[in-house]
Amino acid sequence: MQIAEKKAVTIKYTLRDEEGAVLDSTDGRDPMTYLHGAGNLVPGVEEALEGKSPGDEIKVIVPPEKGYGLREEDNVRNVPVRKLPGKIKPGSAVQLNTNHGTIVAVVKAIQGDYATVDLNHPLAGKTLRFELEVVDVRDATEEELSHGHVHGPGGHH
Ligand code: ZN
Repeated sequence: MQIAEKKAVTIKYTLRDEEGAVLDSTDGRDPMTYLHGAGNLVPGVEEALEGKSPGDEIKVIVPPEKGYGLREEDNVRNVPVRKLPGKIKPGSAVQLNTNHGTIVAVVKAIQGDYATVDLNHPLAGKTLRFELEVVDVRDATEEELSHGHVHGPGGHH
């Protein structure tokens, strides 16, 4: 069976940065299952997997535009420290409530009562190298399609 919309796809992957350092990998753990065509993976990876079958191994270089987006300097902001949860220091990840829901920001610096926080995704602006291996492709269930994600081993619930 080939990968297409409405398929539940199981893959092994290794994600590297441009220099080749491993950022994330399914090595040593269970493969990951996702619902294809539902925006669960970055666009560049879903495009590369389209039409592939179990056993296929591919390498794909994903530019920021098809990965986690470009860095936006507007997303680096100064916020009052008292509005941030818990004890923070530079490098801390904090959850912030915004108009777009809860997002994770990284504290860059603290000066007096204010902290500089970066709301960009940590991988924004980065070119990513994915090594992908297709393990399994099956039809998604009606329930999975209505939820927009897969269920069962390697899935969401
Ligand atoms: Zn669900």
